[in-house]
Amino acid sequence: MKFTPEKYAIPDAPMQPFIDTGEIWDFLNKTISTPVKVKEVVEKSLAKSRLNLEEVAILINATDPGSVQLIKEGARELKKKIYGNRIVLFAPLYVGNKCSNNCAYCGFKASNRDAVRKTLSDKELVKEIEVLEDNGQKRLILVYGEHAQYSPEFIAQTVKIAYSVKKGNGEIRRVNINAAPLDIEGFRTVKEAGIGTYQVFQETYHREAYKTYHLRGKKADFDYRLTSLDRALEAGLDDVGIGALFGLYDWRFEVMGLVRHTNHLEACYNVGPHTISFPRIKDASMLDLGDEYFVSDEDFTRLVAILRLAVPYTGMILTAREPAELRNQLIQFGVSQIDGGTKIELGSYAEKEQNHDLKKGQFRINDDRSLNEIIDELLQQDMLPSFCTACYRLGRTGEHFMEFSVPGFIKRFCTPNAILTLAEYLMDYAPEHTAEKGWEVIEKNIHELNENVQHQVRERIEKIKRGERDLYF
Ligand code: SAM
Ligand code: SF4
Repeated sequence: MKFTPEKYAIPDAPMQPFIDTGEIWDFLNKTISTPVKVKEVVEKSLAKSRLNLEEVAILINATDPGSVQLIKEGARELKKKIYGNRIVLFAPLYVGNKCSNNCAYCGFKASNRDAVRKTLSDKELVKEIEVLEDNGQKRLILVYGEHAQYSPEFIAQTVKIAYSVKKGNGEIRRVNINAAPLDIEGFRTVKEAGIGTYQVFQETYHREAYKTYHLRGKKADFDYRLTSLDRALEAGLDDVGIGALFGLYDWRFEVMGLVRHTNHLEACYNVGPHTISFPRIKDASMLDLGDEYFVSDEDFTRLVAILRLAVPYTGMILTAREPAELRNQLIQFGVSQIDGGTKIELGSYAEKEQNHDLKKGQFRINDDRSLNEIIDELLQQDMLPSFCTACYRLGRTGEHFMEFSVPGFIKRFCTPNAILTLAEYLMDYAPEHTAEKGWEVIEKNIHELNENVQHQVRERIEKIKRGERDLYF
């Protein structure tokens, strides 16, 4: 493929593999980055335009301290301008860790005889969800290994259970999924169960590197995985999440891969990914990896800022794999969703004792703050924690809706809904000191809304104080 720096360098077709390794390296090797070019690209992004591959390469190739600073400041400004100070909170819930694949980096791999295997029974699942509701969670991502037992019907059943559990004022209002790729029929089955986002990470977009980490099982098929979200979209799902596991190959290549994937989805389906994830490899039981592609905190921060600028409209997720301090920092550079109160050992939300056991989990997490501790810290930083699920429930998804492209959307909908869901949390779950600070932050945010909306929000807060729940715009 010859070097063509247009936005869609390869003519795209639905459900066709679209990654061209040589082309991505051409962009990286032949694109010259200067401080002037970096400035132009950052300005384009701040005008809310998507960046093309060449422009992303300009940002990636910028290594002088001045340009790196410009990129970080740009991401900070874009984040502020578009997402305000809202941060969406969720919890992961591991349903089963049986797995027939053998991914070198994962504690669940089939060859790991040390792993304690478990699939939650319906009763155990209900118990986990009750505890999560008691903590104040409203949004879950259910996670599964790849195994014959975890059929689309099984996944659909667990999703339905998650929606059905109601404890006190608690309920789960959005269930996302992170599971192995399905066929179109399978995606239809989970869509009918009412899932929010279907997340599949490509792990690495580099075909040859991919082969070395995935020697066995269905996941060894690079193209089947690469086209999985095409099948999801063909099946009628319209919120899909992409991701790369950083540390498997050169981070610069993976960033280009994520943007190329975004281009593909936009070109073929007129809708980009709802979220981008960028997990970094963490310690795991029987981890079998070198550190050739280890990503330092500094490079990690850079790549988060570059992704923010490259795809301004997309949600960016940073999980408890990363330590609290780094998470607090990266929130400023464009992360819009984080998990809180995370436990990844199977069945561990309902366990009284905290025991992080690598043999029971997929990898080691580095932030084990409770949900309330995270909310406290967000409030201290004047951030606005949100449990909002309104768009998905009102059908504002996919191509019909990109919050970003509707002028004033954030102020009209996202901030009010963040305020209302935080108000519910403060009434139902927060200790006194959190509630005190929380109401202060709510008041500050109400002031920034226009008068008409202020009035409507205040009315609804009064209703929440009188016991009504689940009010949204
Ligand atoms: N089994 C499904 C699959 O492979 O698509 C679900 C994914 S897995 C349960 C969730 C994600 O965790 C993987 O896609 C991978 O990116 C990430 N992961 C696996 N091992 C990891 C490790 N050691 N450190 C950090 N993330 C890891
Ligand atoms: Fe299985 Fe997924 Fe882990 Fe691979 S990453 S071993 S497919 S659970």
